[in-house]
Amino acid sequence: MKLRKIPARMCVSCREMKPKKELIRVVRSPAGVVSIDAIGKSAGRGAYICRRRECVDGAKKGRKLEKGLDVGDCSDIYLTLAELCAEAEPAPPQAGAEPAASSAGEGLSAAQTGAVKDGAKPAIAKRAGTKKAGAEPQGKPSAAGARNAGQV
Ligand SMILES: [Zn+2]
Repeated sequence: MKLRKIPARMCVSCREMKPKKELIRVVRSPAGVVSIDAIGKSAGRGAYICRRRECVDGAKKGRKLEKGLDVGDCSDIYLTLAELCAEAEPAPPQAGAEPAASSAGEGLSAAQTGAVKDGAKPAIAKRAGTKKAGAEPQGKPSAAGARNAGQV
């Protein structure tokens, strides 16, 4: 029985522990360049922050990334983080969904009436088929019976 630990990291802004996937990693490379680590595995000193505007703003105000990464200025990083937060925000529901739904309902009812019509035709064809199929066996035995009658 092995329990897999979900790797959790602390947001530099709200200081909440969260799964790594929910956080953005900012890394200071060994050369001292600060960048957003999209893969989450870049070498260097890392700091994590929520993909939330409040946390980005809070970190910017408190210069928390600068402190966490021990660097002078991360203003470019805060700009990029703000853009990432904007992307993460859910898009507002688009208008025009209702007309599409009503037309879909009309299409459905038309399909249903069509299905009833289509269903009636095969039933008639089946009846005609059974009549024909029934007629042949009737004719053969009678012919055979006539031969038998003639032979006997
Ligand atoms: Zn946070």
